[in-house]
Amino acid sequence: MAKMVERVVIVGGGTAGWLAAARLAAARPALDVTLIEAPDIPTIGVGEGTWPTMRATLAAIGIGEGEFLAACDGSFKQGSRFDGWVSGETGDRYLHPFTSPPAVPTRDLLAAWQAEAADQSFGAAMTAQAAVCDRDLAPRQRAMPDYQGAANYAYHLDAGKFAALLSRHATRRLGVRHVADHVTGVRRGEGRTIAAVATREHGEISGELFIDCTGHAALIVGGELGVEWIDRSDILFNDRALAAQVPVAEGSPIASQTISTAHPAGWIWDIGLPGRRGIGCVYASRFMDDDAAEAELRAYIARVLPDAPDMPVRRLSFPTGHRARFWQGNCLAIGLSAGFIEPLEASAIVMIELSLNALIDNFPASDAAMPVHAERFNMLFRYRWDRIVEFLKLHYVLSRRSDAYWLAQRDPASVPPRLAEMLALWHDQPPSTWDFPQVDEIFSAESHQYILYGMGYPVPPGSAPGDRALAALAEQRQRARSLASALPTNRDYLDTIAAASATAAE
Ligand SMILES: Cc1cc2nc3c(=O)[nH]c(=O)nc-3n(C[C@H](O)[C@H](O)[C@H](O)COP(=O)(O)OP(=O)(O)OC[C@H]3O[C@@H](n4cnc5c(N)ncnc54)[C@H](O)[C@@H]3O)c2cc1C
Repeated sequence: MAKMVERVVIVGGGTAGWLAAARLAAARPALDVTLIEAPDIPTIGVGEGTWPTMRATLAAIGIGEGEFLAACDGSFKQGSRFDGWVSGETGDRYLHPFTSPPAVPTRDLLAAWQAEAADQSFGAAMTAQAAVCDRDLAPRQRAMPDYQGAANYAYHLDAGKFAALLSRHATRRLGVRHVADHVTGVRRGEGRTIAAVATREHGEISGELFIDCTGHAALIVGGELGVEWIDRSDILFNDRALAAQVPVAEGSPIASQTISTAHPAGWIWDIGLPGRRGIGCVYASRFMDDDAAEAELRAYIARVLPDAPDMPVRRLSFPTGHRARFWQGNCLAIGLSAGFIEPLEASAIVMIELSLNALIDNFPASDAAMPVHAERFNMLFRYRWDRIVEFLKLHYVLSRRSDAYWLAQRDPASVPPRLAEMLALWHDQPPSTWDFPQVDEIFSAESHQYILYGMGYPVPPGSAPGDRALAALAEQRQRARSLASALPTNRDYLDTIAAASATAAE
């Protein structure tokens, strides 16, 4: 007889584990959700840039936007800016904004851009959001309903505070059971299933569905079930990061985008929060040693924050790849246990959210339904990992930098065949939904356009601007002016939220 799925056991209490617990408990209140977290194994503690999906995720969990921003030292993220990625020369900079270009055929928009706004970058011409970012403005006014804005947006946050907020919310308001203990192994059920996990101090904890959120350890999916790891480091070379948290002066401006600055063997992230900037150096150990990377990071900090004190730097290393399957038997891998492909474009937390959306929309009523859901999930997520790999590689392939690392990134042997095919196609036509047909593409055709034309890829020949496209660009210029006078700065907005939260706590 089929066994109903009534108990979900999540192992791991990082961003993945707590998002899974909160989303499942909020979406399916009848489920019995337990999260087991080893108190002596720290979470990775980085992961500060999200994707706009986070707004729907937080709303679904039942956390208010003001509460979230105040509790996580959060700020708004409206896209990513890439400095020095094309040539490395002064002024080499472009934006990948979250707001799509106007709904006019892309060929016409490209022709209109070339005819009328060639002095502006593609991103700046296509959306008023670029002007909002230039002025460090928030994407919304405080009076707007939670999670709605004048432009599409996500967040920057303090990863430690985010996991703590999710944990409080999930245990106090959503009835999630929290067990602080070490999982030491699993007891197998019938076939390839798991019946229970064994813990050091709480005995066995049984369930019908298990979610492995143990980070890089991948305790269940890798250690116990031995699901194959697919290495992608032949395509994307970065395998190390250095992370620093640099305090900022009160009242200082807060950037609206993640700033990603290329260096000779990788790039530096710079994420503005109200109280600090999270700055980190991502690099490939094959091309740069740890000390040279730290010198690169410290030189960047000295350049952008000359008065900053000397801050300690955390050293991290990470594998580049993903599992061959993410759902095996009655166990699902979510978060770093499923895979990780360097932090460029912040694709990790959004993959956690998409995994949870897929699980919740297709929640297996019983063990009998599990194989069908597992197969579908595995196919969809393999598709998504492949697209992430290609999208990130695009940023490197289009560069004209000449350091050994950048030349190696352009070596045709390191370019995935589908990306090479697409690049040939995009000589004749712009990226479109024909190339990215899924409803929930992680990186849409528009995202590809922003990178492609931001990095100077040739515009396909053979189209004329047309009145609609010209009017659409003029409308963006007008909208930029009106948003500039209507939107508060990030600093004003977030300081007001913090003050309101402090008053409420008194
Ligand atoms: C340098 C860097 C920068 C990044 N930046 C971004 C970014 O900007 N945006 C983004 O989306 N993502 C980013 N990421 C990825 C992001 O940090 C992770 O995807 C996210 O934090 C989820 O991690 P996790 O919960 O899977 O794992 P972890 O945070 O590592 O949590 C693992 C959990 O498992 C528990 N655990 C482990 N073993 C056991 C056991 N035996 N028993 C019980 N519990 C156990 C631990 O206690 C811990 O609670 C970045 C990653 C790196 C390396």
